[in-house]
Amino acid sequence: LCYRYPEAEKNAVDEVSMRVKKGEFLAILGHNGSGKSTLAKTFNAVLLPSGGKVYVEGMDTMDESLLLEIRRRVGMVFQHPNPFPMSIYDNVAYGPRGAGVKSRSELDALVEDSLRRAALWDEVKDKLKDSGLSLSGGQQQRLCIARAIAVQPEVLLMDEPTSALDPISTVQVEQLAMELKRDYTLVVVT
Ligand code: ADP
Ligand code: MG
Repeated sequence: LCYRYPEAEKNAVDEVSMRVKKGEFLAILGHNGSGKSTLAKTFNAVLLPSGGKVYVEGMDTMDESLLLEIRRRVGMVFQHPNPFPMSIYDNVAYGPRGAGVKSRSELDALVEDSLRRAALWDEVKDKLKDSGLSLSGGQQQRLCIARAIAVQPEVLLMDEPTSALDPISTVQVEQLAMELKRDYTLVVVT
């Protein structure tokens, strides 16, 4: 796999060959600018290879007809928490609604389950209508994890998920990652 940004002089990802097994917990380490984020973004078709191929369970990320399916199966959490400017509930319900889930009870159950898996439910269950942006940084990051989980992905990509967080929130998100690795294939840039 190679990836070169438009107009760049050299490849940001250069001749990487690897396989991530189902259920694996993979950590990607490297100095700043070594291409970790670029590599991770090829896994869910945010970036398409300049050379080589990425397959998600056999699905070629270059195949446009598979794009939505690949993005659903491979969720992503970014370095800086990025809740949508809407309520906590709507942040988590966003993906399922987009996928056509309309029933209120089904959405309620998905939102609760996702927030529980993201270890955030107890802190927000009484204020689901508050803005996601009203939460602390660490809570926002767990909300983003809940949002990613809500569409029932198989793989979670986390790109330096704690680097913008305070030490206590960092520990919480790290503990959460340890729990998530039981249920998901987890790729963490760290
Ligand atoms: P890491 O996540 O390991 O810090 P990145 O994948 O972000 O590294 O970056 C790898 C290389 O690609 C770096 O040289 C960086 O400057 C370059 N790069 C990253 N994003 C872009 C972009 N959007 N346009 C051009 N070059 C980029
Ligand atoms: Mg990076």
